[in-house]
Amino acid sequence: MKATTRIDALSKDLTGKHIVVVGMATTGMAAAEFLAQQGATVTVSEIKTKGELGTAPELLRSLGVNVEMGKHVLETFLSGDLIVLSPGVDPTIPPLEKARNKGIPIVSEVELASWFLNKPLIAVTGTNGKSTTTTLIGHILSSWGKRVFVGGNIGVPLTTYLLHGEEADYIVAEISSFQLEGISSFRPWIALLLNLGEDHLDRHPTLASYAAVKARIFLNQEPKDWAVVNTDDTTAKALCPQIKAQILPFGRDKSEERGIWLVDKDTVVYRKKGGEEKFSLERVQLKGMHNRENIMAAIGAAAICGVPTGVIQESLESFKGLEHRLELIGEWKGVFVYNDSKATNVASAITALQSLEGPIILMAGGRDKGSSYSPMRSIIKERVKDLILMGEAKEKMRTAFQDLVPVHLVDNMEEGVRVAWRLAQDGDVILLSPACSSFDMFQDYQDRGRTFKKMISTLAGGTG
Ligand code: ADP
Repeated sequence: MKATTRIDALSKDLTGKHIVVVGMATTGMAAAEFLAQQGATVTVSEIKTKGELGTAPELLRSLGVNVEMGKHVLETFLSGDLIVLSPGVDPTIPPLEKARNKGIPIVSEVELASWFLNKPLIAVTGTNGKSTTTTLIGHILSSWGKRVFVGGNIGVPLTTYLLHGEEADYIVAEISSFQLEGISSFRPWIALLLNLGEDHLDRHPTLASYAAVKARIFLNQEPKDWAVVNTDDTTAKALCPQIKAQILPFGRDKSEERGIWLVDKDTVVYRKKGGEEKFSLERVQLKGMHNRENIMAAIGAAAICGVPTGVIQESLESFKGLEHRLELIGEWKGVFVYNDSKATNVASAITALQSLEGPIILMAGGRDKGSSYSPMRSIIKERVKDLILMGEAKEKMRTAFQDLVPVHLVDNMEEGVRVAWRLAQDGDVILLSPACSSFDMFQDYQDRGRTFKKMISTLAGGTG
């Protein structure tokens, strides 16, 4: 039987089936619990050892879930009727390859959840801006008085929503490329594609292969569904001909065309059949051109849902943005300090630099993700007065920029913050926007951002 036929049968009834969940972090845990609730026989396989997993194994056992730790046992994988992957798991590991060759269906947790979701699903993907846009859409819909579940890659897994038996009017989900690799029938009512820059070249060798994975968000859509696409992004625009859903484009002004367009710095217009609606961005708190794009995408989704213009306008103004994304920590003696720890790739670091004025002291570096840093050269030359580099990527980054600005290599965040503080003068901006992932020195980007904030306020002596 073909894997897709098997998936079709499984999606209707999981009772008594053996399901292998790979990964024992938040997503794997939620999926396992949900599957057990559905009457499946569940095994969670995790490469980490017992000592690294805290109370998770006990919790699973108490739910009747089998637990395999410290290794992936091939027989376990081959005995599964279905394998569910957590987002962090490499789909090319040998036991998965062997299971795939045997025809065992392998899906991501969002695919599994989608079999059971019966409310309108709004799914957001793209290289950057997913969390901001997902949260903003959730904020607009809740301000409209709707019950909204916001989750997916942004934190709370979709299976958690199912587990708790909540009743939302809308489900807004951030979806990563890793999750899209493992979909089969996942079909959002509204799918948003924000942009396609270089990222995860460690997993997707070319931009074309990465774009093909992101395009899967539209794969199962039908003509009555919607695709909200950034048509200023040439890679995203090139995907349009293969989209079966109705396309609502957004970007810079396209005169009379239907879509969501930025007509001047502070005005967005939604042109539709038989009229248009205007939105003012003068009082929105999200900074930078990139956030103008996120706002347009969110307006698109909200307009499709039928949210009145006045509600959208008010919600745009009351939205404060997210922690670690160009977050203003404070101002001390004329020095503005921003935490943009979530900038884990080159495109987002460029965006941050473009969004801030004033000579910038940039703190960057971390774990290299395989991209070239050269796209950052012109903006670094234009805006950065000193560059402080840390982490595994620091030598590679020094080579990329040392002819442009003074470079200071440091061993850790604390030293970096001290150097930045010493160099800063009235009118300068200190910006942490690493262009790299955080896993060389921190648990994750939140840990990195919080460490930065703590050190800044310790040094500055309180809140700015
Ligand atoms: P994601 O969830 O896709 O990682 P976030 O909203 O968390 O996106 O933002 C991640 C980083 O990307 C932040 O540093 C932010 O400043 C930057 N960013 C946000 N939106 C965009 C965009 N539309 N284009 C480019 N960079 C962006």
